[in-house]
Amino acid sequence: MMRIVLLGAPGSGKGTQAQRLQAKFNVPQISSGDLLRDAVARKTALGLKAKAAMEAGQLVSDDIVLGLIRERLSQADAQNGFILDGFPRNSDQAATLSKLLVDIGQPLEAVLLMDVRTRTLIERMAGRRICKHCGKVFSVSALPSDMSCKSNSNGHELYQRVDDKEDVIAKRLDVYKSQTKPLIDHYSKLGLLKVIKGEGTLELITARMEAALAKSGSKTEKVKRKAARKTASNNSSVKPAAKKASRKKVAAKRKAAPVKKPAVVKKKKVVARKPARKTVKKSAARKPARKK
Ligand code: ADP
Repeated sequence: MMRIVLLGAPGSGKGTQAQRLQAKFNVPQISSGDLLRDAVARKTALGLKAKAAMEAGQLVSDDIVLGLIRERLSQADAQNGFILDGFPRNSDQAATLSKLLVDIGQPLEAVLLMDVRTRTLIERMAGRRICKHCGKVFSVSALPSDMSCKSNSNGHELYQRVDDKEDVIAKRLDVYKSQTKPLIDHYSKLGLLKVIKGEGTLELITARMEAALAKSGSKTEKVKRKAARKTASNNSSVKPAAKKASRKKVAAKRKAAPVKKPAVVKKKKVVARKPARKTVKKSAARKPARKK
């Protein structure tokens, strides 16, 4: 079971890593950005409302995003866990999410913060190109020479996301700083936050995330066991007043007939004796008489 949130600035690799974790742990990646882009592409009523805000690098209104997330979380594949990517993005969304998860009995286990320097974020976003057909993400530093994705023999064209243009990138970073960054403190206070160094090879970053999750998993188990012990003692059929009375009774009995300490069996001191000297019979030791 994995119920986590990936937190981080745009371009910090949440989506890429969510996809890798999804394949490894068999829990769905739920990306608010992907849900919104899908709604825009299908020209649904929600999509039409969201489009302008997305293209300007602003947040889409909470009611639209929450509707999409609530609906997605209720689907069958999300009942055994989920990886939330890009949601929540402000404190109202975080509050609504925790209420929603408590209601469905699926509280969060951890929040992983992808920590990446601003310079790297800008390079990554400005250099990102996506396949029109399969959605595969390329970086300009490793672009195919003919600028096409080879997901079929003809090759598919790559495009740049509208919000990956430089002026919109700056806006998205501002929005992250003012609205999303405060969630770091929020989740840290709840004891859920794990900071992941988000630079290095994809494999290395995934390994860091897995290590952090393994740690938080064992911590969660400990907390659960402690809570179970507490509940068990609270639910015990013996009432606290009865327990107190029985403790008093035992104390009074002890006073009346103090418990004898078990007698200490003294061990005899064993003195190490020197081994007895071998007494050799003089006669035997005598040299044989010389023959005359
Ligand atoms: P990134 O994390 O790289 O900015 P996303 O795909 O997560 O990319 O988001 C793209 C855009 O979709 C955001 O700039 C914003 O307009 C919108 N969006 C995504 N998630 C949310 C959200 N939780 N609340 C409001 N708007 C969102």
